[in-house]
Parts: sequence; C-alpha cells; structure tokens
Amino acid sequence: LSLGQLEEARRALDAPLFADLAGDAQVSFEFFPPKSEKMEQTLWEAVQTLAPLGPRFVSVTYGAGGSTRERTHATVARIASETAIPAAAHLTCVDASKAEIAEVAEAYWQAGVRHIVALRGDPPRAGERFVPHPDGFSGASALVAGLKAVRPFEISVAAYPETHPEAVSAGSDLDNLKAKLDAGANRAITQFFFSPEAFFRFRDRAAAAGIDAEIVPGILPVSNVAQTRKFAAMCGAAIPDWMDRLFEGLDDHPAARQLVAATIASELCRKLYAGGVRHFHFYTLNRAELSYAICHLLGLRPDAPALTEKAA
Ligand code: FAD
Repeated sequence: LSLGQLEEARRALDAPLFADLAGDAQVSFEFFPPKSEKMEQTLWEAVQTLAPLGPRFVSVTYGAGGSTRERTHATVARIASETAIPAAAHLTCVDASKAEIAEVAEAYWQAGVRHIVALRGDPPRAGERFVPHPDGFSGASALVAGLKAVRPFEISVAAYPETHPEAVSAGSDLDNLKAKLDAGANRAITQFFFSPEAFFRFRDRAAAAGIDAEIVPGILPVSNVAQTRKFAAMCGAAIPDWMDRLFEGLDDHPAARQLVAATIASELCRKLYAGGVRHFHFYTLNRAELSYAICHLLGLRPDAPALTEKAA
C-alpha cells in the first residue's frame, strides 16, 4: 500500500456515522434559469424548500453562449430581492465582448448581486472548440481580472478534480486554477465527481501547488445514470461501474431510485466530511428533495427566521 492509499483507508474508517456529525456542515445550491412558467414554479418551490437550510449562497447558471442572459439575471434578481440568501450569478465569456460583460456585471451590481461564478463557458454547439470573441476574454482567469476591474465582486471559479477535458495536462489545469485565484477569485467549486479519493488527491495537489483558497466539492445527486453519463462525457468526470449496478432494475421504481440516489450522494458527502470538507455545493437541477435529504443527513436543519426575512 502507498502512503496515499493508507491515508484514504484511514479517512474511510474515520468517517463518522450520520448520527455523529457535528452539525457544522455548510452548503450552497446551484439552480438553472427556468424556460417556462411551469419550470419557474418548480424552481421557486425548490428555492423555498432549500432556503430554510440557510445556504451560504445559491447560484444560477448561465446558458451556453449567453443564451440565458436575461433569464439568469431575472432569476438571480428574484432570489436576491425575495429571500435573505446571498445570490450568485454565473457568467461566461462565450460570444461576448469585454464591454458586454462589463455591462452585465454592472447590472448585477446595481441589482445588489455581489457574487459572480466566473467561467470561460463551453461553445454553444457541443464538440466545437472555444474561440474567444475578438474583443473578449481568452478564458476564465482573464474574466476574473476583468470583473474585479468593474466592481469588487466576490468570485468563485471552476475546478476539475479529474482534470478539464481540454487541459494539456493535470498540472497545467492546476496552474490555470492558480491563475484564476491569483487574478482575484475567492474560492473554487468543483465539477461533480463520484470518488472521494479523486477529490482528496486533487486537494492535496492543489495545496502542494501553493493553492490555499477553499475548494468546495460540487455534489451531483444522481437519479438518472444515462443522463449523467452524457454530462460526464462532456466534462471529463468518471462514472464508476458500481453506479450502474446500483441503479440496475430500478427503471420502473422511481421512489427506490430516489432512495438509492440519496444514499450514494450522502455516502460521498460523509466521506468528504471525514476528510475535513465542511462546505458542499449541490447541483440541484432545480429539484429540492434529494439535496434536502442529503443536507438533513449532514445535520442541517431548517432555521425558520432566516427563511423569509425579506419576504416578510
Ligand atoms: P478555464 O478556467 O478558462 O479553462 C478552460 C481550459 O483551458 C482548461 O482546460 C484549462 O486547463 C485550459 N487553460 C486555460 N488557460 C490556459 C493556459 N494559459 N495554457 C494552457 N491551458 C489553459 N458552463 C456554462 O456555460 N454556464 C455555467 O453556468 C457553468 N457553470 C459551471 C459551474 C461550475 C461549478 C463548473 C465546474 C463548471 C461550470 N460550467 C458552466 C462549465 C464550464 O464553463 C466548462 O467546464 C468550460 O469548458 C471551462 O470553463 P472554465 O471556467 O473552467 O475555463
């Protein structure tokens, strides 16, 4: 056994039972902007269900090529004005000039939004390579510096425990993460992953590269493996074979699928907790129940007064 493997085994053995968690975990939630009124209602129900858990922030994604510019703004602005939770807006550099990005950022600042998740973004058509706008930013690190020049935003950036698919090497991907943090980002949020060891190894490599900013694991509660496999293929995340096996035969059992999904994700969180993680970022896909159940197991409980300070 290598030292790393021994350390992993120790962490697994040390993983506390859910009943023994100290209740010191913190969470944040990611949503996507709704396309229809019905989806808007589903999203809003999810926000209202999850808000009492007192997330550090919630964030709203930005569609490929800026396709959701208005909807992202409207969703973030609604969360900022109707709940007491700090709302973060995702922003990408795809198909946008520096001046357009400055305009979007300024509009967020005017709407009271102080936190941006700054991303390069993917090309609007899958399979194409990213080409910067002629007057735009070359990538996320340049975007971070550009946003900081507009206003003193809090900024989160993306990190990839299993390496971004376009990266020349794992080392250069880490150099890029460091460049984003050096440009002024406050923390990194990771792409989803299913192996706690992959996260721990990445965190160790980041620390060895001199990165001391918080690296928040992105947790995707999976109840549809086929759909997740499609996502994962695009973003370089590995789906372990055991996950297929755990969902085998459950196609006609949606409730059982949800229970299995919650179990898998909460086990991942429990192991991450044992390795010192205290902030978990949930990719909610605009559904509250799975994330709520996992947060509950992590010891989070609703805090009614914090819930609707503003709405009240
Ligand atoms: P960058 O940090 O710019 O890196 C992109 C690639 O370029 C990497 O491979 C990096 O290693 C490489 N690179 C950068 N600089 C150099 C250099 N100097 N030399 C060599 N290589 C270099 N996408 C959306 O469209 N909308 C969203 O709302 C959104 N939200 C996300 C939220 C999170 C938490 C995460 C993890 C991802 C999100 N994405 C989103 C996906 C993201 O846009 C893609 O993964 C995109 O391909 C890369 O974005 P980035 O910000 O990591 O890019």
